[in-house]
Amino acid sequence: MSNLLDICELSPAYVRAIAPYQPGKPITALAREFGLDERAVVKLASNENPRGISPKALAAVKAALPELARYPDGFELSEALSRRLGVAMEQIVLGNGSNDVLELAGMAFLAPGCSAVYSQHAFAVYPLATQARGAHSIVVAAKNYAHDLEAMLAAIRADTHVVFIANPNNPTGTMLTAAELESFLSRAPKNVVVVVDEAYNEYLDPALRCPSIAWVERFPNLIVTRTFSKVYGLAGLRVGYGVCHPEVAALLNRVRQPFNVNNLAIVAATAALADEDFVRESYALNVAGMAQLLDGCKRLGLASIPSHGNFISVEIPRAGTQSQAGAVYQKLLRLGVIVRPLAGYAMPDHLRVTIGLAEENMRFLEALEAALKA
Ligand SMILES: *Cc1c(COP(=O)(O)O)cnc(C)c1O
Repeated sequence: MSNLLDICELSPAYVRAIAPYQPGKPITALAREFGLDERAVVKLASNENPRGISPKALAAVKAALPELARYPDGFELSEALSRRLGVAMEQIVLGNGSNDVLELAGMAFLAPGCSAVYSQHAFAVYPLATQARGAHSIVVAAKNYAHDLEAMLAAIRADTHVVFIANPNNPTGTMLTAAELESFLSRAPKNVVVVVDEAYNEYLDPALRCPSIAWVERFPNLIVTRTFSKVYGLAGLRVGYGVCHPEVAALLNRVRQPFNVNNLAIVAATAALADEDFVRESYALNVAGMAQLLDGCKRLGLASIPSHGNFISVEIPRAGTQSQAGAVYQKLLRLGVIVRPLAGYAMPDHLRVTIGLAEENMRFLEALEAALKA
């Protein structure tokens, strides 16, 4: 035991201080704990696509199974992305989820003695990517739950190497307009890397999407990250990408594992990218589901933060001064509905619910009504 403790102390203090990421509770875990039938559990906790994987992506995965003895080759996916986005292949960095690309930005640009700026209530991976490098976190107070870009600009110090911006943000669903973000990029110091995380880009109203890929040309310090985990329905395969200046990409590639994205993820992502019907239908389902959930919350007298993602964060009224969100979360679990508590995001009164299929949204609303009464 004492040897083990000595071993653990070899780990830098900044690593030992990390609070591990808290994932949404898996369906299998809830079914085990409460003796529920897995098929009766509704999971609306991780912003996954409720329609599942696109049939074309699934077919591509099945067709690739006999090739698993070979190391992966990301060429085909990079080429497809390069064509779709109108950038050079040298500007694309594939990641084992876009999470991986966020970590690569941390590995390439952060170290002890420097800092990263991000917003209060921003995605949990920014503190992780910063802490893992021993860099200092500058957390900027949010404004109405949204990123306060003016305050973030003012928070940049001489030792700041990276700014993380989620647009839209998870778990708040708040978004920045193209004008706000462009103004930030044009005023941010040129020697600070700005990571714009667009995991929910495809869920944004097309009129609200930023020309972020085109901005990479003008702002060589910009890294745009996107994912196949959300609208493309491939969360379990882990694949995402970054788009940036070729020299920035070359740096990210230096710290990237040579085969970080696996064969099945590559073929599935390539097929999913081409399956435009699936993306369009998923977007439409989200619009309808958002309306259904907002309507249901309104009937229950609950407020939520206006969201531009595939989820909403609902405010659970306090009992006196006492937060009830944790208790409501537990009651929902017993009713077989998994959502995400947000105490870890400094939002102890909110629960985040992913927009599901119409019947899943209904199950959630019924369970929520029961949990609030109980
Ligand atoms: C889900 C999410 C991601 C993407 O995660 P993957 O690693 O691509 O699965 C990135 N950023 C935000 C804000 C997210 O919510």
